[in-house]
Amino acid sequence: MTGKPISLRPAAAGCWRMFVDGWLPRSCALCERALGGEEAACCAWCRRRIAGGDASRCPICAARTPAARVCARCHQRPPALEATHVLGDYAPPLDRLIAALKFDGRIHLAGALATMLLERHRHHLDTVDRVVPVPLAPGRLAERGYNQALEIARGVARGIGSPLVPHALRRQRITRPQPGLARGDRRRNLAGALAWHGGPLAAGARVVLVDDVMTTGATLDEAATVLRAAGARHVIALVAARTPAPVASGERPPAAADDGSST
Ligand SMILES: [Zn+2]
Ligand SMILES: [Zn+2]
Repeated sequence: MTGKPISLRPAAAGCWRMFVDGWLPRSCALCERALGGEEAACCAWCRRRIAGGDASRCPICAARTPAARVCARCHQRPPALEATHVLGDYAPPLDRLIAALKFDGRIHLAGALATMLLERHRHHLDTVDRVVPVPLAPGRLAERGYNQALEIARGVARGIGSPLVPHALRRQRITRPQPGLARGDRRRNLAGALAWHGGPLAAGARVVLVDDVMTTGATLDEAATVLRAAGARHVIALVAARTPAPVASGERPPAAADDGSST
């Protein structure tokens, strides 16, 4: 006996955690207090603490803007995305919940995020034909064992009764990690990085892209461009958290945040 601690691989740890969580009483995904009968996923107190939940945002990229005006960036260079809907800012307490989903193997938290996204934005998803998650970089997927965006997308697809296309978007070349790159570099880094493998899309298809965190929006915009080239007419994004302020050119984005496809 060496006394060496047993370390579970991340995927195995995630499965174990999901098993254990499934046996626990219904509790708030953020503060772990017991949920009331009417409460789903997060307690009312924690929901009120989600930063920027009621903030006025750019209807296209969800950056905060006064009176829900289109932001200067979307005005100057309209993205392929038609609209972005978020739960709130990538800030406490939502950032902790997303970190637990990604780095602590607590996969069931994806369901909590999907539940809250649907409660808030279901009316934007009535006519959606396909639910498509933003892919994780292959190295990261092998290490983690699951793509958190796909896990959120599963709950969304189930909730709205639209088909989930789990691996429709794939990386066709290796890109540099997105965190640490300025906005322009992120776009160049991602150009041509994603490819559609989801079969033919009906003319005029309406697709919702699902991701956990949106920083500059470069990944989602690249994904939307690929979807439009594949025939989608309308592409909207459903994202758990948006970084509070757009990242200016040349400025380093927050290290913990990402555009989903790299971390
Ligand atoms: Zn709570
Ligand atoms: Zn915008």
